Amino acid sequence: MSSFGYISPQTLEETIAVLGDHPESRLVAGGNDVLLPINHSRLIGSLLVDLRRVSALRGIERQTDGSVRVGAMTSIGAIASSALLRAEFPALAQAAELVGDAQVRNRATLGGSIAANDPEADLPAPLLALDASIEFLGSRGRWRVRASEFFRESAAGPHDEIIVSVVLPRPPEHAGMAYVKFKHPARLYALCGVATVLGTVNGQIDTVRVAVTGAANRPFRFKGIEDALLNRPATAQTVNAASSSVFPELDFRGDIFASTEYRSHLTAVLTRRALEQALAHPA
Ligand SMILES: Cc1cc2nc3c(=O)[nH]c(=O)nc-3n(C[C@H](O)[C@H](O)[C@H](O)COP(=O)(O)OP(=O)(O)OC[C@H]3O[C@@H](n4cnc5c(N)ncnc54)[C@H](O)[C@@H]3O)c2cc1C
Repeated sequence: MSSFGYISPQTLEETIAVLGDHPESRLVAGGNDVLLPINHSRLIGSLLVDLRRVSALRGIERQTDGSVRVGAMTSIGAIASSALLRAEFPALAQAAELVGDAQVRNRATLGGSIAANDPEADLPAPLLALDASIEFLGSRGRWRVRASEFFRESAAGPHDEIIVSVVLPRPPEHAGMAYVKFKHPARLYALCGVATVLGTVNGQIDTVRVAVTGAANRPFRFKGIEDALLNRPATAQTVNAASSSVFPELDFRGDIFASTEYRSHLTAVLTRRALEQALAHPA
């Protein structure tokens, strides 16, 4: 039988103090990833710090500068069903809707998903394409890191830092966006998932951001295709031609589920589909 401590703070200040005082502590958000080691008795001696009662970590709110802030303890299900996110950040809502199954989405949280930093997780792709920032709090104060930096450097900071929220900057006027995914049939995560944001002015592409998850060892911005599309006519032919190009600089992952060639092929196909959807549905 596992033996571990448990504490359920109500404020951010209390949470940071507990983490500082207990180097053996471990945060619990939705508990999806933390429950497994408990079952296998690998958390003996730990202090579990449950974030569920910290109300400052919840909610989806518009900021005065037009950006939208999503609290770290917001469930992935709440992101999928948020009217605000579905209207203004559909790529994020679509990705949330495709995470696992209903039970997973009800428990799993935005902060837990980011901190777990699984290379096949869905949400990193829209966070990169939306140019989101991740807000942290710790004993050195409060600060933000752009998603591109966070996922490139690969996560974990000092023990007493927690993810507080994600800030989504207002997308470019009339930009279309989409997320498409090829599911791992057993794990449900993304063998490959692609998020796009596409803005046009006078028939020309003036903003394009494409981000890929699942296909490499970490999620990445697909700069090659962004460069190939920027300032080109906003047509299906342009998208098709760019998506069929070869991008040798990309470093795809291969494993027993999908070879590097297969993931490379999926990336090209899903990129084209996501761009077509973004083109067809400007905001
Ligand atoms: C059956 C199944 C299918 C799944 N399918 C998918 C899928 O298709 N796509 C997908 O993207 N994901 C999928 N997931 C992962 C799911 O989204 C996870 O639950 C999620 O990654 C972890 O979220 P959580 O809130 O449960 O975190 P927890 O398990 O509570 O925590 C995860 C880690 O993050 C740390 N942590 C939690 N919150 C914070 C915080 N605020 N600040 C700092 N550290 C924190 C914890 O200490 C722990 O190390 C699946 C999971 C399961 C069980």
